[in-house]
Amino acid sequence: MLKTLGMKIKGLFQGEGLGKDFYEELEDLLIEGDVGASTALRLVETLREEVRKQGIRSREDALKLFKQQIHSLLPAGSLPLRRDALNVFLLLGVNGVGKTTTIAKLAYYYRMVEGIKGIVFAAADTFRAGAIAQIETLADRLQVRVVKQMPGSDPGAVVYDALESARARGETLLLADTAGRMHNRTNLVRELQKIDKVITGKVDAYRKILVLDAVTGQNGLQQAKIFHDAVKIDSIILTKWDGTAKGGIILAIGGELGIPISFLGVGEKVTDLKPFDPTSFVENLLEGV
Ligand code: GDP
Repeated sequence: MLKTLGMKIKGLFQGEGLGKDFYEELEDLLIEGDVGASTALRLVETLREEVRKQGIRSREDALKLFKQQIHSLLPAGSLPLRRDALNVFLLLGVNGVGKTTTIAKLAYYYRMVEGIKGIVFAAADTFRAGAIAQIETLADRLQVRVVKQMPGSDPGAVVYDALESARARGETLLLADTAGRMHNRTNLVRELQKIDKVITGKVDAYRKILVLDAVTGQNGLQQAKIFHDAVKIDSIILTKWDGTAKGGIILAIGGELGIPISFLGVGEKVTDLKPFDPTSFVENLLEGV
């Protein structure tokens, strides 16, 4: 089994002494584990400072401090729904990160765990005919209503139609897919801003959710910055958590962007979505779920 970042950190804190080597090793582990250089350095420096100030002598006690520190990096992240209103989740992310799969997982989660009945999909990735077909297949399987138009049509119009019809039907949750082609960043950003305008101010509960692939590490963080600059992201869902042993990306997201993480995708099945709880994540030393 691949040694996870959490296992390595645990191993390091089981050793003896709080000298220079210890801090260097910790910094290396964090950087290797996708925490990112600036967050890693900040964590290590703060730990060193606090250990000195509090006169801590054992790694065991230092670990308690370290856990508090990483906890303070992670904003609470759940996405509760307003049951008396229409909630709109706009799903953003580059192609292949697992956006469409995540839409299906969210529908399943809110229906089965939270008991939400009126759920609708908006097939607003009109750029790829395949994306519309994929959403339709998932909608069919889950018995969810789907609003779509022809490939190539205006995604803002699809979202607008979905909003109006969801409101007329008294539905509770609208999950909108969007295009994620990254080769033309300016167009992508402009299109997302247009869709954002269609929704902003028209519903009481609106969340822009970025889907990131945990395996892409620091590259994912760069993607997040682009989307956050474009439309201000409210929440992140990290997919393919089952495929990485690093996991430090969660601390990088907290440390560099301050955006809460709401769910982790832990497999390909519709049931493979776990709410992200910062407290148990830290308690289990970055093992996640
Ligand atoms: P999209 O292009 O962003 O809509 O991505 P898709 O939803 O089509 O997913 C791309 C691939 O990633 C598919 O093969 C999914 O089954 C897979 N996938 C999505 N989420 C997860 C996850 O949490 N874990 C794993 N292992 N695979 C995932």
